[in-house]
Amino acid sequence: MSTSNHHYDVVIAGARCAGAATAMLLARQGVRVLLLDRSRPGTDTLSTHALMRGAVLQLHRWGLLPRVIAAGTPVIRSTTFHLPGAVSTVEIKPKGGVDGLYAPRRTVLDAILVDGARSAGADVRFGASVTGLRRDRTGRVTGIIGRAGAARLTVSADLVVGADGRRSAVARLAGARAAHVAPASSGVIYRYFRDDATTGYHWHYTPGSAGGVIPTNGGLACVFAATSAERLRRELDGGAEAGLRRILASAAPGLAERLDQHDAAGPPRVFPGLAGYLRDAAGPGWALVGDAGYFKDPITAHGITDALRDAEILARVVASRGPGAVSRYQAERDELSLRLFRVAGRIAAFDWTADQIGEHLLELKDAMAEEMAAMTRDHWGVSRGRPGPSRRLELASA
Ligand SMILES: Cc1cc2nc3c(=O)[nH]c(=O)nc-3n(C[C@H](O)[C@H](O)[C@H](O)COP(=O)(O)OP(=O)(O)OC[C@H]3O[C@@H](n4cnc5c(N)ncnc54)[C@H](O)[C@@H]3O)c2cc1C
Repeated sequence: MSTSNHHYDVVIAGARCAGAATAMLLARQGVRVLLLDRSRPGTDTLSTHALMRGAVLQLHRWGLLPRVIAAGTPVIRSTTFHLPGAVSTVEIKPKGGVDGLYAPRRTVLDAILVDGARSAGADVRFGASVTGLRRDRTGRVTGIIGRAGAARLTVSADLVVGADGRRSAVARLAGARAAHVAPASSGVIYRYFRDDATTGYHWHYTPGSAGGVIPTNGGLACVFAATSAERLRRELDGGAEAGLRRILASAAPGLAERLDQHDAAGPPRVFPGLAGYLRDAAGPGWALVGDAGYFKDPITAHGITDALRDAEILARVVASRGPGAVSRYQAERDELSLRLFRVAGRIAAFDWTADQIGEHLLELKDAMAEEMAAMTRDHWGVSRGRPGPSRRLELASA
């Protein structure tokens, strides 16, 4: 299929959790969507993948949770917090059709969302990069320029969505500004181990470091160690595996010892750190979802949850259209993000005492509860109404 000179209602760059979810929700309402990704389908990405309740709720509402479960993703029925001198387990109570949490591998989750987009009628192309934005005389974005192999793509669209992750080309080309930047960043090393005995999420915190276990598909558990980005650089001197063991030995000594009883599956992966940011969410003819617009430190394991959340907000706003759509998306995203963003930055600084981390975690819990309360309000979901085909999507101005 050649997409040169085609017109779509919406073109989306990036086909993982943010982009594929947005494409699916828009296509389900009859919006003509082109979803592009420069990578190959079904690939992994640098990310652990613990879903919080909001993400599981969204997958349930979208009818995709049965597929996540059918892929052999183990149910998580508890989260245990290991703090210096205190261990506390929170049971995950069934609520709103969600019987527990899940941590599907990205090869599983992203593929299910892409299938959902395709089944809803979105055109999906992998191996296709967005390299430029088209604009009209007023500066409004009117489409994309890109490449698919040797072929040049030029596609016009009423709305271009950047769901192209932390190094978002769409954010850069659109000139999105970062209104908030986190003062500190964590660094993370993680690795998969054969372990189908661990049930539940386990989060360990000790001053200067953290670690955890996330049970996932294929009888594997993802074990991670986190510390400040500065310390991580030093710990990597002896290699990633030695760094993982050393950080875990301080954050979670029992867990570090238990690793010897489990075979590793695949090499350790390293996230060197990146300061969180909250960028402009949208402007004339363009919008950002997921990490392209909002990246908070991975120490809160909340990025996928928020990417699915913002996909829903953007799809709802696009469907409702009319003046003010941009500012409604921006305002709603920021209102739900700022508290989480700030506490993520405080935890990522790794300068807290044993008492302070308890307070930060309580703040995180409250911020998550606030987000869930918003996501369970009546107006939350995308309405099922199909927009009329002749009306231009108007996510243009406030
Ligand atoms: C170490 C680490 C651990 C994490 N752990 C968790 C966790 O446990 N739980 C959680 O919820 N979140 C976690 N996160 C955060 C989570 O990974 C992100 O929030 C999430 O991946 C954001 O999804 P996205 O779809 O916005 O972007 P991405 O997943 O980054 O996808 C962007 C896509 O855009 C494509 N793309 C890029 N540029 C272009 C272009 N120019 N043209 C076309 N396509 C393009 C890429 O190929 C890619 O497929 C973690 C992050 C890190 C780094």
